Amino acid sequence: MNTITLKPGKEKSLLRRHPWIYATGIATTEGRCEPGATVIVRAADGRFLAKAAYSPESQIRARAWTFDENEPVDHALFKRRVAAAVAYRRQWVKDSDAVRLIFGESDRLPGLIVDYYGNGDKGQLVCQFNSAGVEHWKTAIVQALVKETGCPNVYERSDAAVRQREGLELVTGVLAGAEPDPALSVTEHGVRYYVDVRNGHKTGFYVDQRDNRKLVGDLAAGREVLNCFCYTGGFSLAALRGGATSVTSIDSSGEALKIAAGNVTLNGFEPERATWLDADVFKTLREFRAEGRQFDLIVLDPPKFAPSAQHIDRAARAYKEINLVGMQLLRPGGLLFTYSCSGAISMELFQKIVAGAVTDARADARILRRLSAGTDHPMLAAFPEGEYLKGLLLEKVA
Ligand code: SAH
Repeated sequence: MNTITLKPGKEKSLLRRHPWIYATGIATTEGRCEPGATVIVRAADGRFLAKAAYSPESQIRARAWTFDENEPVDHALFKRRVAAAVAYRRQWVKDSDAVRLIFGESDRLPGLIVDYYGNGDKGQLVCQFNSAGVEHWKTAIVQALVKETGCPNVYERSDAAVRQREGLELVTGVLAGAEPDPALSVTEHGVRYYVDVRNGHKTGFYVDQRDNRKLVGDLAAGREVLNCFCYTGGFSLAALRGGATSVTSIDSSGEALKIAAGNVTLNGFEPERATWLDADVFKTLREFRAEGRQFDLIVLDPPKFAPSAQHIDRAARAYKEINLVGMQLLRPGGLLFTYSCSGAISMELFQKIVAGAVTDARADARILRRLSAGTDHPMLAAFPEGEYLKGLLLEKVA
């Protein structure tokens, strides 16, 4: 049997059921440990800790499937894990047919992301296999997904850079069923959105902001809205449906903006209420400030500024800049929805950065709410890394 034995003291995180085994914590490796192979993980004193998937090229050298010595790592395990993940979403996600069905470590399937768009035969599953372990068990996982959801169409978007850290090639393509429908759309809280499964970012749609888009929609009535980093118009469409008087949206991706404009027509909203700017947010915010533009509700949902802990300082400056100008562009009584999806930046740090921006803008603001991803992105108690998206809702004090 393939076995890895840890250095003394390195068993602690596994005893807390955290699933990662770092290369630096391993003393010895025995057996034929090929990529994705199941290995028994033992403490320095020989105690059983976990069964894990081996990943020879990654710093995270193995990821635990189970902490139960009697649970075999076989097809049935993947069926159980997928079934549990699907049942959980059925219970907790309402009013949307765009759902994060599998959220990696949080669903005890380390490295696997699956989003589900639409329903039944017309539905589309989109997967990212981001670790050697889930890559190895791909066939079993796809079978389980089709069986548990009744959705025959599975597309792979394993083109995220993280795959390279696992020594895996970037691949995309159909895994089961038909080619993705180029006109695929989903309905979230009564708003329809096109989802470009083949060419869109990630799996095509930012499912994680569902609850936050709803909140923006609920608060948008009668407001002039500015949506920065709008992608395909997620927050913009929610604001239009919520009765915003106008919505100005900025993104540097022309492709995304084309889909966003299409979403306005798809929903039958008046195109005059929506302005789409193909531009850099940093530059445009400064221009708006120079022009004295003002808004009643601003959304800042930038890409991940800190891909890792080494980038925190630079990322903090970028977050601070957009929040500072964002605060200045708000009318008194206006609302700011501001987000970070950098795992390396904690909620505490993000709140500090935003508070600093408010001070430097010479404004007062109340923090009305702390925001996060929806319940389909659960955070396992043992795996706090699952909390990557954090946000704040602020009101500028009049
Ligand atoms: N809020 C969106 C998701 C935003 S993803 C939703 O709910 O769907 C981040 C977006 O920022 C991407 O669409 C990317 O094209 C855009 N982007 C990244 N850097 C940018 C910049 N400097 N200026 C404008 N847009 C940028």
